[in-house]
Amino acid sequence: MKNVNIAVDGPSGAGKSTLARRLAERLGYIYVDTGALYRAIAYDMLQHHAESEQDIAERLPELDIAIDYQDGVQHVLVNGEDVSGLIRTPEVSMGASRVSAIPAVRQFLFDLQQRLAREHSVVMDGRDIGTVVLPDADVKIFLTATPEKRAWRRYLELEEKQPGVQSYEDVLADVIRRDEQDMNRAIAPLKQAEDAVLVDTTDADLAQSEQMLLDVCKEKLRL
Ligand code: C5P
Repeated sequence: MKNVNIAVDGPSGAGKSTLARRLAERLGYIYVDTGALYRAIAYDMLQHHAESEQDIAERLPELDIAIDYQDGVQHVLVNGEDVSGLIRTPEVSMGASRVSAIPAVRQFLFDLQQRLAREHSVVMDGRDIGTVVLPDADVKIFLTATPEKRAWRRYLELEEKQPGVQSYEDVLADVIRRDEQDMNRAIAPLKQAEDAVLVDTTDADLAQSEQMLLDVCKEKLRL
C-alpha cells in the first residue's frame, strides 16, 4: 500500500511539534520533526565555529544526520552523537533560523526528508513541507496562532525548564524576529501552501487543537 504523507507547517510556537507527534501516534505513522534537523546542523556549526555561508557549506559533507526513535520519541544524531538534549536553547533556535536560509543546507536536508516520506507513512512538521518538500502530500495543514499566544506558550515551556531565565517580552521579541526571518528569506520561505487547510489554535487548548487536526485528516483521508 502507498505510504501516507501528512505535512504540518507553520510558525514557531503554534503547537506543531506536540500536535504533529500526537497525530502521528493516533494514526500509527512516524513523526518527523524537521526543525530538529536544522537545529542539529546549527548546533554542529556552533560547535565548530563555522560562521560564513562558505564554511557551513564546506562542513556539510562531513555530516551524517540521522534520526532514531526511542519509545516513540524522535532523537537526532550527528555523526552518531545524540544531540537531542542540546538543541532546544535560544542560541540554537536563532542559529537554526540562520542556517536554514542557506541553499546548500536546505538541499542537504531535502534529500533526507524525501527519503523518510518515501519509506514510511509520516506526519512531517516544518516550514516548507507542504510547499517544497512534499508538494504531493495527502494532507496539508497550516497551523498558526497569534504571535502573542505563541510567545506565551513558549515562555511557559521555558519557565518550566529554567525559571526566570527569559522574560515574556524577550520570548515575544524572539518569536517576532524568527517569523520575520522565516517568512522573508529568499529560499523556501514560510508560507501556507495553496491547498493547505488553515488551523488557528489561538483560542484552542491542546485537546481541541488535536481534534481539529484529526478532523481534517479524517476528512481528507476518508478514514
Ligand atoms: O520548528 P523549529 O522551531 O524547531 O525550527 C527551527 C528553525 O528551523 C526555524 O526557525 C526555521 O528557520 C527552520 N526550519 C526550516 N524549515 C523547516 C523546519 C525548520 O527552515 N522545515
